Amino acid sequence: MGNFGLSAKVDVIAPSASLQVAQRALELKRLGKDIINLSIGEPDFNVPVPIKEGLYQALENNYTHYTESQGVLDLRKELAKELGHDIEADQIILCSGCKLGIYLALETILNPGDEVILLEPAWVSYKHMITIAHGKSVSVKTNEKNNFIPTIEDIKKAITDKTKAIIINNPNNPSGQLMPKEILDEIVQLAKEKNLFIISDEIYSDIVYEKESFYSMLNYDYEKIIITSGFSKNFAMTGLRLGYIVAKKEIAKAINKLHQHIGTCAPSIAQYGIMGKISDVLKNDVEDMRKTYEKRRQILIDGLKETIFPYIIPQATFYMLLNISKLNMKSLEASKYILEECGVATVPGIAFGESIDDYVRISFATSDEMLLKAIQRFKNINI
Ligand code: PMP
Repeated sequence: MGNFGLSAKVDVIAPSASLQVAQRALELKRLGKDIINLSIGEPDFNVPVPIKEGLYQALENNYTHYTESQGVLDLRKELAKELGHDIEADQIILCSGCKLGIYLALETILNPGDEVILLEPAWVSYKHMITIAHGKSVSVKTNEKNNFIPTIEDIKKAITDKTKAIIINNPNNPSGQLMPKEILDEIVQLAKEKNLFIISDEIYSDIVYEKESFYSMLNYDYEKIIITSGFSKNFAMTGLRLGYIVAKKEIAKAINKLHQHIGTCAPSIAQYGIMGKISDVLKNDVEDMRKTYEKRRQILIDGLKETIFPYIIPQATFYMLLNISKLNMKSLEASKYILEECGVATVPGIAFGESIDDYVRISFATSDEMLLKAIQRFKNINI
């Protein structure tokens, strides 16, 4: 590698463990091996038809210019109504994906050296975004016994006088678990006492199988809650890059100052394409996709019983954690082994923190046929 004098923060960002497996999967595929990819992090569905029509229409209408940085007002009004809880349009910022929303939120609240609490398992990008924003991530461990839900005592232990925020991912990628209301109540109470921000990433909020157990942070009126979400997963629109942030007006205004300089605005076509459609698409297309995921989840629940992998039944998302301890390996090695032995690509748990180094993540954003084939291959593992 040449010495280009790049930023030190780029050096500390390690190549992801999941990419190592993905790279090998690609090599094996090129060698002609039949690889089943269960490492996918996006819906396998196409964009819902009403939105497709909206996208064509948006192009026809030449809605290809910059929009208001915060997002088209009518769309923000529609979204505010859909979210309920008296959310107003000026509390919402539409941006290019939930990922940018999380990053903008972090950049807006962090001063150099500020600490951010991450609850393991934590989605891979949080810690890197915190680093880029000159903050420091502090991980709280969890375990299967507690359904990978942290205890308030463990969170309290992680707090120092440098703590600025806590990130919650509900529903959780990769565990598929929902945060019980009781722990959310305790976290909000703690955040109030310690004057902390809460960033609540709710990107999988409509892919939920136990709907009565999902409790959004929108239910609380603590002023330092910032919610990030978007249409990538729920609406199967990953490549269209439409995410959003919901925060108190003053905070939203501050975040949007950064957004103006970093993101300008969310893609105009995606904004106009979805406008006027959110409610119907949620009721019909999103619900249909959710039901399909639910059926696939059942295929895994039934089929995996006969394999060496105990699993955690997801309450939401299209992910499932498989316990690989019977292989006597940690997750990266196990993920590589499963790829070589079964031709099935998974994501090693270590990518999401040490708490789940005895697990690999599989995704059921793929066909029944692929899932059944993968289960069959798992049954053939001899240890
Ligand atoms: N948060 C979580 C937990 C995710 O899993 C993802 C996507 N993998 C994102 C945020 C990013 O979503 P988007 O594509 O809208 O940027």
